[in-house]
Amino acid sequence: MGISQETVEEVLRVSNVYDVISDYINLEKTGSNYRALCPFHTEKTPSFMVSPQKNIFKCFGCGKSGNAVTFLMEYEGISFGEAVIKLAEKYNIPVRFTGSDEEIKQRKRGLYLSQKR
Ligand SMILES: [Zn+2]
Repeated sequence: MGISQETVEEVLRVSNVYDVISDYINLEKTGSNYRALCPFHTEKTPSFMVSPQKNIFKCFGCGKSGNAVTFLMEYEGISFGEAVIKLAEKYNIPVRFTGSDEEIKQRKRGLYLSQKR
């Protein structure tokens, strides 16, 4: 059972990388971007950049980059699915799972058969 593609796309569309990352680290405005000390490697001068326009983050020190989902996966050490669910909760997006209808049907069928026997 996985998260439906619909839900993943909705989460990626709605998630704001600045919004998500600023929940975890302090971002300092610089021009149209934000910067911070990278949470993924040790550094004294900020090379971790967040671009709200492109909706991505990139560290020029260690090369880590991605979107809101990638950030949560890396920062919290969670799976893609867990990160998507976390963001869905943050933005009140209903999470749909693939195959769940079919699984429910099969379970009901199994129950019916076992009652008959
Ligand atoms: Zn870095």
